[in-house]
Amino acid sequence: MASLLIALENLRKTFDGTVAVDDISMSIPAGEIFGFLGANGAGKTTTIRMLCGLTRPSGGRATLGGADVWRDRFRVRSMFGYVAQRFSLYTDLTVKENLRFFGGAYRVNPRQMDARIAELLTTLDLAGKSHTLAGGLSGGMRQLLAIGCALIHEPLALFLDEPTSGLDPVHRQRIWDLLYDLSAGGTTIFVTTHYMDEAERCTEVAFIDKGRLLAKDSPQQLKERIRGKLLQLRVAPLMPALALIRAEPDVLGVSVRSGMVRLYAAHPEALFQRWLERWPFPSIEYQGHTWDTPDMEDVFKAYSQGYHGILAEEAQR
Ligand code: ATP
Repeated sequence: MASLLIALENLRKTFDGTVAVDDISMSIPAGEIFGFLGANGAGKTTTIRMLCGLTRPSGGRATLGGADVWRDRFRVRSMFGYVAQRFSLYTDLTVKENLRFFGGAYRVNPRQMDARIAELLTTLDLAGKSHTLAGGLSGGMRQLLAIGCALIHEPLALFLDEPTSGLDPVHRQRIWDLLYDLSAGGTTIFVTTHYMDEAERCTEVAFIDKGRLLAKDSPQQLKERIRGKLLQLRVAPLMPALALIRAEPDVLGVSVRSGMVRLYAAHPEALFQRWLERWPFPSIEYQGHTWDTPDMEDVFKAYSQGYHGILAEEAQR
């Protein structure tokens, strides 16, 4: 199967002087499930829109399979599918009619159209709904149909902007199974998500903040960038403890996990030793602790909140 490399070189976008995407350079090999993560407004959608030739880069360039995404945008269009955040399916058309409409727009060979639609209806588990109006589908089924429409022309790459946002766990799983199958078949997947369990499922993840690329690596390697383990304290009462611990000068941040305070600090062992020798919170009872290995939620926090103290030195660049 043909493969497609996505490459960004100093890609940049400004809106009236505001920098939305700030000199991003990276490449995404074919068959990768690439997760693009960042807070609201970080620049994810703008990056995808540039890669899909929908908005003109202000600087730098990007290529899909060597073709420039802006200069060659009409040629590039057939190489990828795009599932936008607010995808406009035709709600007054049936499932099948939507697929046929997008098949026409993507110039699917009319002789192959019926077979392709039948194949997608099976893949998406929508065969029983083929005559249902898209507007009458549940959110999960509608999203599967949206993905189906983006796949009608068998693209080499698929861009998805928060495809599982607001969906129940069963449909989220269904969509991820589909992404795995596509990736196994060589399709490059570029997906944005705010769900950290989904970030874990990607083969590579990048974090952006205020348009800047902060890190890009496999989930495992990103987790290894956090030095040591994370301290979790069992304390009571929990909520007042959270506020007091957060206010400590050596504490970068806190969160609650499994009823415990999860603590981010540059030197948690030394801090904990000090606290055990002289517990600094008279109104809070210490009931125990655990040391936990970092997960993607921790990595995202470290990068998005700027907890540089817990990142290995080479990860702080
Ligand atoms: P979200 O997670 O909320 O979807 P995002 O990471 O996709 O956010 P973008 O939508 O790319 O972020 O927005 C990046 C920045 O660019 C934001 O500050 C946004 O306000 C700005 N922006 C995006 N599109 C436009 C536009 N058409 N005109 C002006 N500013 C824009």
